[in-house]
Amino acid sequence: PSDGGAFACGGRNRTCEVARMSARPWRRSPEDFAADIEQAIGWMVRHMGDASERSVWSRAQPGEVGSKIPKTPPSEPEPLKDVLRDMQKIIEPGLVRWDAPGWMAWFPSNSHPDAMLGDLLASVAAQPGMLWTSSPACTELETRMLEWLRTAMGLPVCFAEGGLGGGVIQDTASSAVLACMIAARDRATQSRATREGGSACSGLVAYASEQSHSSVLKATGICGIGRDNLRLVPTDDAFRMDADSLAEMMKHDVDAGRQPCFCVATVGTTGCGAIDPVAAIAEVCRSHGAWLHVDAAWAGTAALSSRHRNTIVAGASEADSWTFNPHKWMGASFDCSCLWLADRRPLIDAMSIEPEYLRNAATDGGDVIDYRDWHIQLGRRFRAMKLWVLLRRTGVSALANMVDFHVSLAKTIEQHIGAHPKLELAAPRSLSLLCIRHVDGDAATQQLLDAVNADDRFAVTHCTLDGRLVMRVAIGALSTELADVETFSEYLLAAM
Ligand code: PLP
Repeated sequence: PSDGGAFACGGRNRTCEVARMSARPWRRSPEDFAADIEQAIGWMVRHMGDASERSVWSRAQPGEVGSKIPKTPPSEPEPLKDVLRDMQKIIEPGLVRWDAPGWMAWFPSNSHPDAMLGDLLASVAAQPGMLWTSSPACTELETRMLEWLRTAMGLPVCFAEGGLGGGVIQDTASSAVLACMIAARDRATQSRATREGGSACSGLVAYASEQSHSSVLKATGICGIGRDNLRLVPTDDAFRMDADSLAEMMKHDVDAGRQPCFCVATVGTTGCGAIDPVAAIAEVCRSHGAWLHVDAAWAGTAALSSRHRNTIVAGASEADSWTFNPHKWMGASFDCSCLWLADRRPLIDAMSIEPEYLRNAATDGGDVIDYRDWHIQLGRRFRAMKLWVLLRRTGVSALANMVDFHVSLAKTIEQHIGAHPKLELAAPRSLSLLCIRHVDGDAATQQLLDAVNADDRFAVTHCTLDGRLVMRVAIGALSTELADVETFSEYLLAAM
């Protein structure tokens, strides 16, 4: 036989072969797991405790981590202590400390210990929740978590559980905008097919502000609308989308025989945190039948605070879809992006597919949610578990306090900047995000960026606004304290 095994050699040999394999080296007993966890906890606790003692940026050179990892996997088992030793020696130098008190780069991506615990419980529960039948708990906990967050954030009732709309967890905001764009594309092409026959998506146009996230451009390419058919709408002097320009651009497209299909309003742009006028944008979209998607990936968390809620959710009741990433500021550990829809049917129409092997009585009965019909992939992680543990153990009011605290820390830096004649804000502070530049120009701003990032205690990133270089300072790591932003401000001013 080609496999040369004992299976081909008759019943007695097969029994011997099975007996010889009785050790089952691929298995771990619950007791083994408990002992392993105890060992691994040593590394975890030390790692969580040394965030302020390490360089925030990894100082590893390209290829340095990879060069220390063998090119082929081990054939025989290795002790966990060896893995943990290499975790320390090989992996740690390549880790970027997003959890450091001096983390001010991009946006925060917080992993709250309660969320880590939830993730671990979810891993042990091991529930690929593609259908309700494949995991009723994964499905129903998720539906309820979206409802918890909707009410805590003051999002409108059109997104509520049990109505025409509803919520779903996507992996990222990029996937959320892509899924919604596909739904909008199909809605637009189907209504055109009914009117004119044919279902090609040529002539469809999408819109987003010049400050929108690159995921919007990426999605237009992937979903077939085409990158050339994304119109970048000009912004006002605070980098918010200009709704009048949007109206003009849509009218121009309609006059030219094209069809406005999809528009993204951003609540908290990536560059400077600008908040687009969602209600005014919604009015323009409605007049052309275009889908309005709100991207509040970072700033959405601020809706947990009563001080910021109205600003963040303004106009949400007019949107077709609204998304934010609890994996950014809220602490829900990457990845976790919540998406609500006012009407879930276009998304389900676009995503649903039912091969025979997935048919089941619960789906046929129509009383359950099958989340595989709400996103691109079939299987899904049990992400609701980390939201559940985080929201129960930490509570909404503590998370709201965290938002207020981080905003007040950003105000402290803002005061220091305001007092220096050579520094200025390139855009109004948005929540806990500051965009700072040197009045002498880009070369001086670059020097400041380099000086800050050369210090092991801090990490900042940049963007351009009005064609000029800007240092972004995004406060929001769970560990950041007043003393840290004071130290940062002192350092910045000394580097001038
Ligand atoms: N939208 C905005 C406004 C963002 O700032 C970001 C990332 O920072 C994204 C979307 C993309 O997020 P994700 O990594 O979840 O796709």
